Amino acid sequence: MKKKNLLYTGKAKSVYHTDVKGKLIVEFRDDITAFDGGKKDTLKNKGAYNAGVSAFFFSHLEKNGVKTHFLEMIDDNRMLVRELSMIPLEVIVRNFAAGSIVRNYPFKEGSPLKPPVIVIDYKDDSRHDPMLNDDLIVALKLATPAELKKIKEIALTINALLSKLLAKQGIRLVDFKIEFGRQGKRIFLGDEISMDSMRLWDKKSGESLDKDVYRFNKGDVMATYNQVAARIVNEPKAALSKKSTAPTKKSLIAKKRENSQHIR
Ligand code: C5P
Repeated sequence: MKKKNLLYTGKAKSVYHTDVKGKLIVEFRDDITAFDGGKKDTLKNKGAYNAGVSAFFFSHLEKNGVKTHFLEMIDDNRMLVRELSMIPLEVIVRNFAAGSIVRNYPFKEGSPLKPPVIVIDYKDDSRHDPMLNDDLIVALKLATPAELKKIKEIALTINALLSKLLAKQGIRLVDFKIEFGRQGKRIFLGDEISMDSMRLWDKKSGESLDKDVYRFNKGDVMATYNQVAARIVNEPKAALSKKSTAPTKKSLIAKKRENSQHIR
């Protein structure tokens, strides 16, 4: 498999064509950003943590019947994926009120949302990802009503699977953002699921175990990412698919040792 020309570069990932039709390489870079790119850093090994945790979650979801773009890990930072035609929607599932819905609506931080609340934003940085509703999504021809129904169903299935997986590690899945794409008429989960795209709280202490540590200078974000990766990837080893080479606790801890210096 050869890496060919760059197809797309985002704030923390780059996507490359390969010499095989229908397969792309996603490279998780060490860049971290927040507030629409207003805060930026480069943190050694951050890409490998996110790639490894994403691969682990994708494998777990596939095992449980959710179709994802993940095929296999190439190395610590690079993932081979199915080529999808991405749908520019950011699908956010919320189990507890936090972040923008607390800022924008009269929810109390941490209050449970039962049933979970799905919020869908239009993925467009120049417009600051405005929130959509079903009618707007259909009017903008971003998805058909049937696709939207399917997307919401898959999002809730993912929520149930990941909430359960994380709960075993004493971690509360507060919210997360996912993106979908099409291959023909089929909808697949694309992008990533990592500490960058989720809000995770330790069940006992309530401490943040995700990008909020970076956003709000709550501590050493790399130490947090290492802790979460080790907690998540360690216990449910059985969830790893055979083709995945998502990192083991040992390899992730080895990375922590290398992490003493952050490149800024
Ligand atoms: O900021 P907000 O509260 O709307 O974010 C909800 C969830 O979606 C958080 O877990 C956040 O990390 C994730 N998110 C994301 N990418 C965005 C916006 C939100 O991963 N562009």
